[in-house]
Amino acid sequence: MKAYLVGGGIGSLAAAAFMIRDGDVPGGSISILETAPVMGGSLDGAGDPAAGYSMRGGRMLTTDNYECTWDLFRSIPSLIHPGKSVQEETLEFNEKHKANSMARLVDCRRAKVPVTSMGFSMEDRIELLKLSKADEDKLAASRITDWLSPSFFETEFWYMWSTTFAFQPWHSAVEFKRYLLRFMLEFSRIETLAGVKRTIYNQYDSMVMPLQTWLAAQGVRMVADCKVTDLDHETVDGKFTVTGIHCLRQGKSERIAVNPGDLVFMQNGSMTDASSLGSMTSAPAKLTKVDSGGWTLWEKLAAGRPQFGNPSAFNSCIAQSYWESFTVTLKDHAFFDKMFQFSGNEPGTGGLVTFKDSNWMMSIVLAFQPHFPNQPTGVQVFWGYALFPDRMGDFVPKPMAECSGAEILRELCGHLRFDLETVEQANCIPCRMPYITSMFMPRVRSDRPLPVPAGSKNFAFISQFVEIPDDVVFTVEYSVRAAQTAVYQLLGIARKVPPVTPHAKSLETEFEAVVKAFK
Ligand SMILES: Cc1cc2nc3c(=O)[nH]c(=O)nc-3n(C[C@H](O)[C@H](O)[C@H](O)COP(=O)(O)OP(=O)(O)OC[C@H]3O[C@@H](n4cnc5c(N)ncnc54)[C@H](O)[C@@H]3O)c2cc1C
Repeated sequence: MKAYLVGGGIGSLAAAAFMIRDGDVPGGSISILETAPVMGGSLDGAGDPAAGYSMRGGRMLTTDNYECTWDLFRSIPSLIHPGKSVQEETLEFNEKHKANSMARLVDCRRAKVPVTSMGFSMEDRIELLKLSKADEDKLAASRITDWLSPSFFETEFWYMWSTTFAFQPWHSAVEFKRYLLRFMLEFSRIETLAGVKRTIYNQYDSMVMPLQTWLAAQGVRMVADCKVTDLDHETVDGKFTVTGIHCLRQGKSERIAVNPGDLVFMQNGSMTDASSLGSMTSAPAKLTKVDSGGWTLWEKLAAGRPQFGNPSAFNSCIAQSYWESFTVTLKDHAFFDKMFQFSGNEPGTGGLVTFKDSNWMMSIVLAFQPHFPNQPTGVQVFWGYALFPDRMGDFVPKPMAECSGAEILRELCGHLRFDLETVEQANCIPCRMPYITSMFMPRVRSDRPLPVPAGSKNFAFISQFVEIPDDVVFTVEYSVRAAQTAVYQLLGIARKVPPVTPHAKSLETEFEAVVKAFK
């Protein structure tokens, strides 16, 4: 049996590992085909002090959830701590560096906003309760604004929750409800981000590299610069069966035969598709799926096959699914020192600092340093993002989308009231991501295929765009869970996928008590 994985994101890397560990598939029988020059997909991170570091995202994880992710990484050896797994080294790191944000929200006067209260009115509580209890079929393609009144979007809770998880008011009510339930434990500690766990370095170096190294040692073929353009398929025993893979490998067309008994897994859709980087002097180019072709294969396969989902529910409105992030490389300590004085947090203990009144809705995170293994002493790196890049800045009279890295730094220093000399030697690399919240777009259940769609013989989907009950998208966990689900099902592995932990039960009781008291 051979297995082919289309796409080299964490979903496919995880699937390969589960096939080897739990399905006894020899690594040499597995091939991963990835368009980009490196594996890891959205979990990227690279650079050096001269060119500047860049990562599209900075990730928060939890240990109270992420059941499949830790189930995977307990088997993957650390690259920096011999004899330990990635899970062990991450847990130990988080024991030493606990999150306790002291400047979660900052207002337009540069004052730290008191956040011990969520700012809810009784009406907000009742509406939240109704939403958290509503059936998903009833919520269907409704938006968060269909369930919660305008005042809710002015609460401290909304500023913290929406910027922690990147929700917009127009996003899917189902996804918002799932987040409320899945991350219930964060409800009472969202103001300090105490539940958030971090990796030692950025996630490319701390998750992708160890996993990729382990897979390579097992003999897995990881083929970069290889874009899959089409799948040949036929109906065998009344079932959809892939029989060939067409790809462009380093620009040359190839066909890989898929024989009876072989399996094909495909990453359908990507939140970082068509993303582009700017520089200190230029804004990122405005690319779309037409430039990248990243959604074409899923669109082709889903046409006329409702069981393969509906990509247009997710990729049809860039205005509602995009934002920008930026990575800043500093060559002196001035910015970090001033941030410590202002926030009271050492790097790596504060988490997101959100400028809640900023037009762009800008946040920054100063992670523990070094954030890259090749980062020399004296160089520091931080990451930030803004939810509304179409709006004019408060200190730069331009939408963020039009701004260079230098202009983004000017806007940031304006909110912090830092002199521009603080970032004199900084290199800020902006990153535009047109589909970054495409997973949160309003949708109905059938818009996402099951990991193994009905009527499939040898074909599965692994991505953020598959339907998995109760779990939440925009997480590493969702892709790893999709991988484990698809692999176990197609290979007939008896071991159970770790269930989603039902933290939500406690909230139901709490909310119900509040509502009863109100009556
Ligand atoms: C800015 C940002 C912040 C984030 N914050 C968090 C966080 O705090 N916590 C958290 O848990 N998660 C977070 N995430 C989400 C997490 O990174 C993703 O959910 C996860 O990495 C998605 O992995 P994936 O493998 O499903 O897809 P991707 O990483 O998108 O990988 C898919 C890959 O498939 C390739 N591909 C697609 N089609 C083809 C084809 N036809 N041929 C060949 N290759 C193809 C693509 O090039 C891509 O590399 C964040 C992501 C970003 C970008």
